[in-house]
Amino acid sequence: MNLSRKAILGVADLPRVRKVFETNSRARSLVSRFVAGDTAEEAIAVAMKFKEQGITVTLDLLGENVNSEAAAAEAVISYADVLRQARAAEIEPNVSLKLTMLGMDLGDELAMANLKRILDVARDVDGFVRVDMEGSDYTERTLDIFRQVHDEYGDHVGIVLQTMLYRTGQDVVEMIDRNARVRLVKGAYAEPDSVAMGSKENDEVFRQLMRMLMQKGNYPAIATHDMAIIDDAIDYARKNTIAPDRYEFQMLYGVRTADQERLRSKGYNMRVYTPFGKDWYPYYTRRIAERPANALFVARQFLDRS
Ligand SMILES: Cc1cc2nc3c(=O)[nH]c(=O)nc-3n(C[C@H](O)[C@H](O)[C@H](O)COP(=O)(O)OP(=O)(O)OC[C@H]3O[C@@H](n4cnc5c(N)ncnc54)[C@H](O)[C@@H]3O)c2cc1C
Repeated sequence: MNLSRKAILGVADLPRVRKVFETNSRARSLVSRFVAGDTAEEAIAVAMKFKEQGITVTLDLLGENVNSEAAAAEAVISYADVLRQARAAEIEPNVSLKLTMLGMDLGDELAMANLKRILDVARDVDGFVRVDMEGSDYTERTLDIFRQVHDEYGDHVGIVLQTMLYRTGQDVVEMIDRNARVRLVKGAYAEPDSVAMGSKENDEVFRQLMRMLMQKGNYPAIATHDMAIIDDAIDYARKNTIAPDRYEFQMLYGVRTADQERLRSKGYNMRVYTPFGKDWYPYYTRRIAERPANALFVARQFLDRS
């Protein structure tokens, strides 16, 4: 991760900055570029529009690092509702969630019990739950929980692996061995140099691990907006006769929308990670930090109009 990204995430983490942004009336309109709405109904309406274009979604209720059992229980109810509502609206019931929203900071057993409640519903509606990957402090614990639920729920649950972490090559091998569904991402969190590599090296490692997953993995999700990497994936698939229905591309809501449509129109499976809800601040700041131009744009909006 480069320094400017780390710096943006560091500034965004300051309580004073967060307060100014969250209480600013203009912030909401800036946030709407990356967030599909406040409610599940709004997110499902967006999903139905995508469906007309042949694009699928994974719905993400925003929220992380909850510090009460009650808040975690509320998240379980909301996710169960979203899965059922999606099935009723004839949208594929596919959600992404963070274990810290299910109470992992209060204990792994609580998070796993909550995850299982959601997975019971997912199995009921023939849906899918992707466990997002958070900062490296959580990696091993997240994988431990994932291993256990994967044994029980099989293809109703999948995991995310971040190529920036030095450990991830081994994790990819393990997930291929257990035939688990993996979403491969570069990694969005500010990490110490002791566990994570720089961005150039990361791009190369992403390519290597992506090829392994395309060759031997279980319907891998290649989640990136890096068009050079996407072109490489397409090229690799063609040279190795890997059919387009054996993997999918994933991008974030509001990022490279034209490319999402273009890839779909060329016959590639495209899924858009579609977040909704009111707890948007941490998600939004990670999106801003991914592209320095985004940070300049936001800063300008504030300076111009204040
Ligand atoms: C579907 C999906 C799910 C994800 N889940 C996780 C997760 O569980 N855990 C995790 O750590 N990370 C997750 N990420 C984020 C990921 O780790 C990266 O931080 C993010 O995708 C940016 O990296 P990139 O691969 O797009 O490549 P980059 O090299 O960062 O970007 C390539 C190009 O894409 C464009 N771009 C990228 N990001 C933005 C942006 N925010 N705004 C505008 N343009 C942009 C720019 O043109 C940039 O030059 C997810 C990403 C996706 C697409």
